[in-house]
Amino acid sequence: MSEFNINTIVKDFPTLETKIYGKRLIYLDNAATNLKPRSVINSIHEYYSQGTSNVHRGLHYLSEKATDKYEMTRDKIKSFINARDRKEIIFTKGTTDSINLVAATYGLEFLKEGDEILVSEMEHHSNIVPWQLLAKKTGIKIKVIPINDEGEILLEEYEALLNEKTKLVSVVYISNALGTINPIKKMIEMAHQKGAKFLVDAAQAMAHTKIDVQDLDADFLAFSAHKMLGPTGVGALYAKEELLEQMPPYQGGGDMIDVVSFEKTTFNDLPYKFEAGTPNISGVIALFHAIEYLEKIGLENIISYEDELLQYGTKRLQEIDGLKIIGIAKKKTSILSFAIKDIHPHDLATFTDKFGIAIRTGHHCAQPLMKRMGVVATTRASLSLYNTKKDIDELIYALKKAEEIFR
Ligand code: PLP
Repeated sequence: MSEFNINTIVKDFPTLETKIYGKRLIYLDNAATNLKPRSVINSIHEYYSQGTSNVHRGLHYLSEKATDKYEMTRDKIKSFINARDRKEIIFTKGTTDSINLVAATYGLEFLKEGDEILVSEMEHHSNIVPWQLLAKKTGIKIKVIPINDEGEILLEEYEALLNEKTKLVSVVYISNALGTINPIKKMIEMAHQKGAKFLVDAAQAMAHTKIDVQDLDADFLAFSAHKMLGPTGVGALYAKEELLEQMPPYQGGGDMIDVVSFEKTTFNDLPYKFEAGTPNISGVIALFHAIEYLEKIGLENIISYEDELLQYGTKRLQEIDGLKIIGIAKKKTSILSFAIKDIHPHDLATFTDKFGIAIRTGHHCAQPLMKRMGVVATTRASLSLYNTKKDIDELIYALKKAEEIFR
């Protein structure tokens, strides 16, 4: 097992050296996007300064080098999530794009009026709206799996919703607004028993839990690089090869074709059939370094360190009068969503900002979830591997000050 040394980890993230209003940055907005280690940042600089070239197109040195590096990331992801084959990894713009890809290809091709899709009450908008757009085009029905007051999926209700009309279940692995870790493996098994396919929204899961797509038996899994120490605007879709083979292309353009004529066009093999146009090359290459960094520190170390922070933060938040944690699932990751009586979340975020603290307030792109939990917005502190107990102490200090001022 590799060593977890928080002092060296903190030094790997140059943004943490930034001063905000002259104060040390305390970055607690990791569920929105996390900071990048130096190796990720350097790889982007290196690509543009020494290696700019397109991929899969040129026979010259730089193009071959860029292609090799780009394809190395595919192999890295394959082993990181234990996919059967590198063909099952499609580069996209991120989780949203991956889910839209499935809706626009698998959904449009294979789902028809009368079919049902299940999503849960705790989904991010990007796992709701693509299905609503698809429903408009196809007449499929979207049904919602309810959750309890703690923020956990009700498995009996889920079971009751599954029937022979259910063709797809699309559920988040870890909730961005509550931190709940859903029993995805069990849910996939239940969906498969009814013959439904399962899409896992793993946006928040990749850097906070070990994912093995074969063990989960996931049909689709979507994620974004920027929530796992990588750059923005890039991510991937994992899908079983047999499904990708049957699915029509997503977008048309360069790279996804075999032979083009005005009479008939044939398409490239997997995975390229789904990768039209010049991709985010530096982003894909940087994702390699993000995964390498996670592997170097060790996911198990990260999970246990973040859990320690979660327990500490949960305990310390109790010191704030009138504070209620929103999302108290038995299994959760290091996300602390809360509401404080008589203090508006936006006032709180503006106030804590002056202390150099970056926290998020709002509906976290999960408006139906906010409604279910009986709040319009929450304040969210989301922790990552480079946060410390001292960061939490400073948050508590600022919250106590806010209490004095706003009450
Ligand atoms: N799903 C979840 C659970 C998320 O937290 C997010 C982003 O916050 C998304 C989907 C969408 O990710 P992206 O904006 O990177 O496409």
